[in-house]
Amino acid sequence: MAPALTHDATPFVPRDHTLPVLRDAVQRCHGCDLYRNATQAVFGELESGGQAKKPAVEIMMIGEQPGDHEDIEGRPFIGPAGKLLDECLEAAGIDRRRVYVTNTVKHFKWEPHGNVRVGKKPGTREIRACRPWLEAEMEAVRPKLIVCLGAVAAQSLLGADFKITLMHGKVQRAEGLPPILATLHPSSILRARSKEDRGRQKKSFTEDLRSAAKF
Ligand code: SF4
Repeated sequence: MAPALTHDATPFVPRDHTLPVLRDAVQRCHGCDLYRNATQAVFGELESGGQAKKPAVEIMMIGEQPGDHEDIEGRPFIGPAGKLLDECLEAAGIDRRRVYVTNTVKHFKWEPHGNVRVGKKPGTREIRACRPWLEAEMEAVRPKLIVCLGAVAAQSLLGADFKITLMHGKVQRAEGLPPILATLHPSSILRARSKEDRGRQKKSFTEDLRSAAKF
């Protein structure tokens, strides 16, 4: 029988906040409903040295949730959005090997559209339930700057009133957290209605990443 839900991942987060231990433990998390329909939890990683106990991280990037590819492969930002992120990081002069990438929630929330699994925005309860994992990751990687990719990550750290459209690319301060800069999620750029919109959003995203690099 499935355990009763707590809507809080705290009981599942080990005291040892080192990445290999956390990555192993998150697979047993039942802090909210999302584990039920996902293939596996997708924890954050550093492209090089992701298994190191004390990785050298400049920037921690936080997205929304794993996508279809990530859910199957068990790694964050490896689908089309990840490819776009890599391209824009390079254009902004950010060394991808010093960037830790993760998501606000660690399990894929989706609904079926025919044979396709379409991502569904995680709710406040799920975001709150998963926060202890995010905090454990912050403690493990100690980033100099957090970059929130999209509104879900930004609002979870900076409050529900935070507007990416107005405040993107500017460094924000929140009590108890490293400096935070919010920008678009690469998936939203890929969903832009026209080629022109996509080009505009990509340019703005790269400029925000340049601001992160300067910081
Ligand atoms: S989304 Fe987060 S809190 Fe919910 S089951 Fe997965 S790891 Fe646990």
